[in-house]
Amino acid sequence: MQALVGMILAALLQWPAAAQTILPDAVEGEAKMGSQTGLDAWVQDFRPRALAAGVPAATFDASLRGVEFNAKVVERDRNQNEFSKTIWDYLDTAVSEDRVALGMKAMAKHRALLDRIAAEYGVEAEILAAVWGLESAYGTYRGDLPVLGSLATLAYDGRRAAFFEAELIAALKIIDGGHVETFTGSWAGASGHTQFMPSSWEAFAVDFDGDGKRNLWGEDPGDALASTANYLRHWGWTKGQPWGLEVTLPEGFDYDQTTERVVKPVPDWQAMGIRTATGADLPDHGPGSILLPGGHRGAAFLIFPNFQVIERYNTADAYIIGIGHLADRLKGGPPIAASWPRDLRALTLDERRELQDRLGRAGFDPGGVDGRMGPKTIAAVKAFQTARGLIPDGYPSLEILSLLR
Ligand code: CA
Repeated sequence: MQALVGMILAALLQWPAAAQTILPDAVEGEAKMGSQTGLDAWVQDFRPRALAAGVPAATFDASLRGVEFNAKVVERDRNQNEFSKTIWDYLDTAVSEDRVALGMKAMAKHRALLDRIAAEYGVEAEILAAVWGLESAYGTYRGDLPVLGSLATLAYDGRRAAFFEAELIAALKIIDGGHVETFTGSWAGASGHTQFMPSSWEAFAVDFDGDGKRNLWGEDPGDALASTANYLRHWGWTKGQPWGLEVTLPEGFDYDQTTERVVKPVPDWQAMGIRTATGADLPDHGPGSILLPGGHRGAAFLIFPNFQVIERYNTADAYIIGIGHLADRLKGGPPIAASWPRDLRALTLDERRELQDRLGRAGFDPGGVDGRMGPKTIAAVKAFQTARGLIPDGYPSLEILSLLR
């Protein structure tokens, strides 16, 4: 899975995330006006490729007979970058008091199961519950769109044909193995308690309850939670290491240091005057970086390698912090102590592109004009801020855009 920063915040109209919906950015084929007739023809064209990939003909025919074109899915796919939220707006929803309370209840109800999975996979129960909480509100909202319809529509639509065709083949294998009863999910084909894409099911799903099925969709969340644990373990989860912790920066701190690219041992950060949010000495969990997701007027975090493991689920910093912070709250931890610059609004897609375009013209390479505020764009904003004598926190605000105009 490729790390594409900041792209999923989009799909967050109702729930904050769709696991592993880390879609390739490149346009593989020309988008077209879709129709049911067009999809039917595409299914016939796709059939030999699916059979060659190991899908039995009977399964293919039975599963895709009558598969429905869904124009809304195409619309969502095209527009997913239009929406953007600030980190504080995102966290208000992602780690709301309601979601914390529901999570406590869900954890109490499934305590024994979560403890068994945590022990077997070395991933804390609270992290698993947090993923579950963000992906499906602890199983209560798993998505009700037919997965095959969404994937077939998106593969036929052609904007990311190869990606969705591979997902559809994996989905057909799930059906062929009898793993799923009701195969519904979110618009991009992620499904189940922790919103796995079919390819992630293929690679990482486990049969935790031993019934012979890797069932991420039924009422029992055991297979899904264990599959999530397996996924995180595979990408290097370190039990006992925080994803990150809120810190305070000393007066006069060098903001050039606040980037994921600068990694230092904890004693170095401690020597620079950084402390926890409560003013205590920093616990040493190995090398880490300082992150300012809302700029210098917002909270600061010292992040550890587990941050990059959560990133494998979804690359948006806001999502990672949402998972990590929700897990901390489920452990009984406090809300984020610092305030956010709530007077700032998120840039629109057009404004983000304009910011990148103007940074480039001013000699600060943003790494492309795609509307994504990735590491290169943040570095370009920092360089611009430094050149203008501003605090180089790398935060792409409207003020920065105004100064570039
Ligand atoms: Ca099972």
